[in-house]
Amino acid sequence: MDDFSTNRHAENLIKIDVTSSPPIRHPDLWFGDGNIVLVAGEIYFKVHQGLLCRHSTPLQEGINALEATEDAKLYSIEGKPVLILNDQPKDLCHFLLALYDGVSSVKHDNHDFEIVSALLRLSTKYRVQHIRNDILRGMSMVWPRNLSAWEFREADATDSTGVYKPRSVYPHPILVINLAKETGALELLPSAFYDLSRCSASEIATGYLPPGSTDRSELHTLADEDLLNTLRGREHASRFLSTFVVNELEGREASPNCVNKSDVDPFRKRICQATFEATTFEILRDVNGVVLHRSSDPLFAIMDADLMQTRADGSGAGGAGGGGRLSLLHRACEPCRMEFTTAVDAARDELWHKLPYWFGINLPSWP
Ligand SMILES: [Zn+2]
Repeated sequence: MDDFSTNRHAENLIKIDVTSSPPIRHPDLWFGDGNIVLVAGEIYFKVHQGLLCRHSTPLQEGINALEATEDAKLYSIEGKPVLILNDQPKDLCHFLLALYDGVSSVKHDNHDFEIVSALLRLSTKYRVQHIRNDILRGMSMVWPRNLSAWEFREADATDSTGVYKPRSVYPHPILVINLAKETGALELLPSAFYDLSRCSASEIATGYLPPGSTDRSELHTLADEDLLNTLRGREHASRFLSTFVVNELEGREASPNCVNKSDVDPFRKRICQATFEATTFEILRDVNGVVLHRSSDPLFAIMDADLMQTRADGSGAGGAGGGGRLSLLHRACEPCRMEFTTAVDAARDELWHKLPYWFGINLPSWP
């Protein structure tokens, strides 16, 4: 946890303030009956000690320390004691608004990420557990613990024409990984690492530059250890898909209960095996994301292997984008398809379960 200003730091800043311009009053977070002034950067907020002390032990300690020092009496704003904090004014503003107004209006999309990030960091630093819990609950919808929640998240990132566009909806996973590490929110990491692992290795290594930025100082990159863990996890995921194709799809036999097996027509007799052969071909053909632009996403590819057999038009999960990927002749019978669906579900559960291990994340529990 970061150290924040105490009276000792305040004393240093008092001396600077004599010669530099005084802080400016925040237009909103200023209360006529406020009894403490918080200064962050060049902005001051006049707020209520009782509220701060009720929610935050570190802030209470900071205020108590302030009262105990003689130096603090030398420096006041509007006649109120001044607690200087080493936060960004924008971050502190979001945090104070959350304390006064709650967090119900905060969205967890990419537009609100700056707010979410400030709230998670400051609620952690100032130990305001209820704000931290609320923010983590919201973030867990996008970076979930469960595969079923991941599927909802993925569906929400697919537009009405069937095009998958997570980057226009959700924050970039590099931002989330760095935030989760900084705040100890480790349960967000498995899905964030998996999301990132679907990018190309060069994109992962280069980092994330927010749209519209030209300044390289705004580039977000992973720590070396996290970069290595992402690439390692990416290899695990890719191997998992290959193993699934070999074990469950390539040369898959018809079910013992196959209804076509005893057909006298030699073509009909083999139709279930032929379906699995065609599915294998489709999966391997798109292993680099040429068809659906969903490269390195085994959770998706494995589900798609199942969906392309069940959809009436054989389009699979790609919707309009992957139309007609399996000929209508390729339909496994119900018992063969049911057996395959069971294998698909088991493989996806297994993959999800392995995420923390693959990406080097130490979690007390994971589904
Ligand atoms: Zn069959």
